[in-house]
Amino acid sequence: MNKEWSEKIKRIQVLLDKETTYKDAIELLIEFRKEMFEQISQIVNGYPAKAFYQMPFANTEGYHSKTLAYSIWHIFRIEDIVAHSLIAGDEQILMTGDYQKKIGSPIITTGNELQGQEIAEFSKKLNIKYLYEYAREVMLSTNSILLNLEYSQMKTRYSVEDKDKLASIGCVSPNENAIWLIDYWCNKDIRGLIKMPFSRHWSMHIEAMKRIKNKLCKNVRKGVDPVAYCGLSCNHCFLGEWCGSCRTEYNVCSFATIYEDRRCPNMVCCMDKKIDGCYECSDLENCTKGFYMPDNDGAASAKAQAMFIRKYGKKAFLKTHDKLHERYDFSKTQEILGQDVYEGFKLLEKEYSN
Ligand code: SF4
Ligand code: SF4
Repeated sequence: MNKEWSEKIKRIQVLLDKETTYKDAIELLIEFRKEMFEQISQIVNGYPAKAFYQMPFANTEGYHSKTLAYSIWHIFRIEDIVAHSLIAGDEQILMTGDYQKKIGSPIITTGNELQGQEIAEFSKKLNIKYLYEYAREVMLSTNSILLNLEYSQMKTRYSVEDKDKLASIGCVSPNENAIWLIDYWCNKDIRGLIKMPFSRHWSMHIEAMKRIKNKLCKNVRKGVDPVAYCGLSCNHCFLGEWCGSCRTEYNVCSFATIYEDRRCPNMVCCMDKKIDGCYECSDLENCTKGFYMPDNDGAASAKAQAMFIRKYGKKAFLKTHDKLHERYDFSKTQEILGQDVYEGFKLLEKEYSN
C-alpha cells in the first residue's frame, strides 16, 4: 500500500483510541477521505467511458483484478450500508437518492458475489456520472455521521437482530463470497467500522484503481507516437503513468482536461492544419495557444523542445531526453530547460552533441 496513506491510517487509528484525541482522529480521517476521493474524481474526470469496464488484470488475485466502475460501486455500497443501515439506522443514500435507477445498476448489493466476466458485464451497465454523484453523496453523508458520533459510541456493538436486519434488506448477497460481510461488520464495534469500511477499505480499492488505470494507459500507448502535439515527450513525462497521451482517448494532460471536450488546443490546431505536431508549424515561435500560453510556466520549455524536433527530428529528441534524464533528476522539463525558449533550445542542442 502507498506508504504515505498507510502512515496516515496508522496515525488515525492511534488517535481514535483515546477520548482526548478522538475528535482529532475524525478530523484527520475526513481530510484523508477528501484526499483519497480526489483520486477518484481525477479518474472519473480523466478517462473515457470504456476505461470503466476494462479488466486489464483479469484472472489475477487482488482488488486490481476488478474494473474502475466496480471499485467505485463496491467501496460506496459498503459504506452506504454500514453508515446508514448499521450505524445511523436510517435509509441508505442508494434509496433516498433513487440512485439504483439513475446509475442503471441491476443489483443493490455490494457486488462481492460477482466473478470474472460478470464484473465487466455489470460495469458496462453503470452510468459513471451518476455513480460518481452517488459516491460523493455517500462520502459527505458519512462525514456528517462521523462528525456527530460521540466517543462513548465507539464501543457500540451489534446484535443478532442487527445481523438479521441486514440480511433481510437484501443489500448483501447470500452468495458465499458476500454473506460473510454481515458477520464481519457486526462483529466489529463502531471504532472497528471506522477503521475498515470508512478508511482502509477505501485506500486498498483506490490503490487498485490506480494500478488499473496505469495499466490501461500503458496498454493504450503501445505503438502510439510518444511525441505529444506540443513537443513534449510522453515517454519522459511526469504524468506518464496517469496519461495515455494526447494521441489517444486517455489524454489527461492538464491542458486537455480543463476543456469540456478534453481536447487540447494545440492538438485541435494541429489537426485543423493537418500537421503532425506544433514542430511542423511556421507560427511556432510566436504561438500563444494552449500549452504555449504565456501564463504556463512550461510554455518556453515545450516550445524549445518543439523547435529541437523541427531541426533534429523525433529520434534525436527522444535520445536527448534519455540523456537529460540520466544526467539530471527532474520531473518537469522547465526545471532543466528554464523559462527562455532559446536558452532551452541551446541546452538541448548541447546535450545532443555531447
Ligand atoms: S501530459 Fe502530455 S506529454 Fe505527458 S503523457 Fe500526457 S500527452 Fe504526453
Ligand atoms: S498555431 Fe500554435 S498550436 Fe497551432 S499548430 Fe502552430 S504552434 Fe501549434
